[in-house]
Amino acid sequence: MSPPSGGNLEANLAKARGFLERFRGAPLGHFIAGKAVSGVGREVFDNISPVDARVINQVISGDEQDVNAAANAAEAAFPAWRAKTGDERRAILHRVANAIEARREEIAFVECMDTGQALRFMNGAALRGAENFRFFADRAPGAADGLALPAAEHLNYTTRQPIGPVAIITPWNTPFMLSTWKIAPALAAGCTIVHKPAEWSPLTATLLAEIMTEAGVPAGVVNLVNGIGERTGKLLTEHPAIRATAFIGESRTGSLIMSQGAPTLKRVHLELGGKNPVIVFDDADLDRAVDAVVFMIYSLNGERCTSSSRLLVQRSIHDRFVERVAERVARLKVGHPLDPATEIGPLIHQRHLDKVMSYFKIAREDGAQIKAGGALAENLKPGFYVQPTLFTNANINMRVAREEIFGPVLTVLPFENEAEAVKIANDTPYGLTAYIWTGDSGRALRMAHAVEAGMVWVNSENNRHLPTPFGGMKASGIGRDGGDYSFDFYMETKNICIAHGTHRVPKLGDAK
Ligand code: NAD
Repeated sequence: MSPPSGGNLEANLAKARGFLERFRGAPLGHFIAGKAVSGVGREVFDNISPVDARVINQVISGDEQDVNAAANAAEAAFPAWRAKTGDERRAILHRVANAIEARREEIAFVECMDTGQALRFMNGAALRGAENFRFFADRAPGAADGLALPAAEHLNYTTRQPIGPVAIITPWNTPFMLSTWKIAPALAAGCTIVHKPAEWSPLTATLLAEIMTEAGVPAGVVNLVNGIGERTGKLLTEHPAIRATAFIGESRTGSLIMSQGAPTLKRVHLELGGKNPVIVFDDADLDRAVDAVVFMIYSLNGERCTSSSRLLVQRSIHDRFVERVAERVARLKVGHPLDPATEIGPLIHQRHLDKVMSYFKIAREDGAQIKAGGALAENLKPGFYVQPTLFTNANINMRVAREEIFGPVLTVLPFENEAEAVKIANDTPYGLTAYIWTGDSGRALRMAHAVEAGMVWVNSENNRHLPTPFGGMKASGIGRDGGDYSFDFYMETKNICIAHGTHRVPKLGDAK
């Protein structure tokens, strides 16, 4: 299916206004037990568009009673949902995918206005979300499958059962796609869910809850509570009816999620931050490497966990390679996300803009050079636009080489040889992805095994294949998503041992 057409800015703005109209008026509430509800909590917060710093709508922050209502609805709906056959769940989840595709333009336009992500990328977001539902729908009939482990006089076999109601807590960078990546496998496994979307980008979560319900997901199987992370999110991760928390967000929030869930012994799955290296050797196809380096940090506004935010370049090609990257950075088109020509939109929020901009000062103080960008995109104020930025002359001790900036900001680090490249690549608390560019297959293998990262791409940008494991090492996370790995999280593995009736059962109290 082809994505929606690019259109032009004026026409797209008119459409976006139409799609956003429904959110104006009463503050946005929750979605519990199959219905949109305003709930009990009375605290509201503004949802601001990064495009022009204007309030799109107000959102209600769920309180304890709202979280209780959602968790209890998920608990009540669990027995009937888990009792459905895999084929029944498969059929319902395919209907969800169809319904997402039918509303793909609305999802894309609302996401652009709510997050600042450019339409050229968000055009595909709904389709990728639908693809996530289709992929896990087709796996639902086999989700319980296990192993036969025969012993001499017993047959052991394993099966998997859904863990129960789960909390799904998502960030603001590409909220619709990431939500489907978590929710689809949970539902396919037979779990029920309570979703808490990020407070800076709540809108498409409501569209998704509505779509799932209209497509036939029974009431209570999917629930949504809006709210502030430290309050609503915290309550959810502490709730006794919730058996596990699937979380995507910052590393320090991940550690809070673990401790909040500890008293109720919750299983946690954490997809966290990154400071990912792209390592370019002098024997690489440099034309393809330039394309991939620029794409992997400046797409999605650099607000991407898998972005290659550290460029490690072999000294022999350092100057000419960096010159080529800098030329591209200078030509990147920053603009309104609904302009089809835009490559970089505004950052999500004034606070995030301030954080990203603070690294320009830090870079200067630490002695790095700002080769491109390094300032606000003044002409686009009051939106939260920043110039795409390139730091050179950096070393691994500088904060711009160590900390996740999560914006369109790339730090270049030179290296001499493989050993030094590995040392620099691994000298960070994170370990999400690494990208290796070389024409030497032996070197590619040596590097791929040596770098500390959950996912490594050789001679490629991030290229997703849904059966593969997705997740990070070190401060980048715990657990893996994708294919069967997702079911390992959302399901309990049970071993069943059946005797042949031939073995000797020990006798006690039988002494003559
Ligand atoms: P964040 O950690 O601030 O917030 C994520 C979510 O957690 C939000 O819904 C928030 O409301 C909620 N939250 C905050 N505090 C909470 C608490 N104490 N208890 C429960 N919930 C709480 O992250 P963010 O700023 O929204 O997102 C950006 C981060 O996400 C970056 O670090 C990025 O690398 C990471 N990320 C990781 C992946 C991945 O797959 N590894 C994907 C996308 C984004």
